[in-house]
Amino acid sequence: MSFPSSNLTALPEQIPLSQERPFQAIRFTSPLPGPHILVTAAVHGNETAGTFAMTRIIKQIEDGDITLQGGGLTLIPVTNPKAYRLQRRAGDRNLNRRLAPVDHPQQYEDYVANWLCPILAEHDGLLDLHSFQSGDMPFALFGPQNNQDALEPFTQAAIEETIVQRLGCSRFVYGWLDTYAKGIKRRAKEVESGRFDARQVDIDSAYGVGTTEYMRAKGGWAITLECGQHDDIAGREVAYQAIINTLILTGLIAGPTPQPAKDPQILGLFDVFDRFHAGDSFAKPWKSFDKIAKGELIGTRADGNTIEAEQDCLIVFPNMKSQPGQEWFYLAREGGRLS
Ligand SMILES: [Zn+2]
Repeated sequence: MSFPSSNLTALPEQIPLSQERPFQAIRFTSPLPGPHILVTAAVHGNETAGTFAMTRIIKQIEDGDITLQGGGLTLIPVTNPKAYRLQRRAGDRNLNRRLAPVDHPQQYEDYVANWLCPILAEHDGLLDLHSFQSGDMPFALFGPQNNQDALEPFTQAAIEETIVQRLGCSRFVYGWLDTYAKGIKRRAKEVESGRFDARQVDIDSAYGVGTTEYMRAKGGWAITLECGQHDDIAGREVAYQAIINTLILTGLIAGPTPQPAKDPQILGLFDVFDRFHAGDSFAKPWKSFDKIAKGELIGTRADGNTIEAEQDCLIVFPNMKSQPGQEWFYLAREGGRLS
């Protein structure tokens, strides 16, 4: 089975929904009991490392080279077919934000959500495979500690922590949704003070809900793996090994028990800064995971105010192209979990 894309971009951007490739999930179910695991790829259409890895695994299962010992495995090689056809991040909008079923679907991703969300809810765990624009090594994102807070109540931290350390990468990031929500609160204050127009910016923390947050809200565990740079074919092997390791660790397939990463870098996101003005500028062309020393200049606002690091930290997801009222960069610090 292959997922050709060479003849797809010739189509115009907007085609009738009936002509978009249908949604496709490939399910393998053992006669024996066990957990049901979902693996997704191309949630962002130009992130296809996992798509290729799944093609390989589907063939291995069909050929009998991989056997399921119990439970079920669902593979979605192309989660966002329109974005995949257009070889870009989104069709009409980012599928990985404000993910929830929609009563009156309008944008393409609303239709994806209405198909995908029930599938997520049927599974015990999710491995969501992505890739990045620029960066040096694969990294995985995992969820909060067990908690009963309103934002992201959770009971599955132990299994996430066990699996995430054994996917094959050695950089791990947590703290996404609570940091995002902190930024949203701050943004709402800026709206109140008149800096942003409420109609132009997002001030709902539900906007931070993507595949993994939705999965956790439905009682499952969920890990995002950023397999490498978009066009680096090494990312396909990273994705393949991560799927295999997840299936071994959850007992779906047999194999040597994957070991935890030897020199893990564990990073907790703790702060996020919005861009206020198109004239806000970075002190350097920052890349994700660049280290910043306490007191170092990160950027300068258009009004001349400077932002310095209040502690030793790393910058994550710096976005030179973000619009005023959107996230400009995140900060993370080392340690805190997985120890
Ligand atoms: Zn992505």
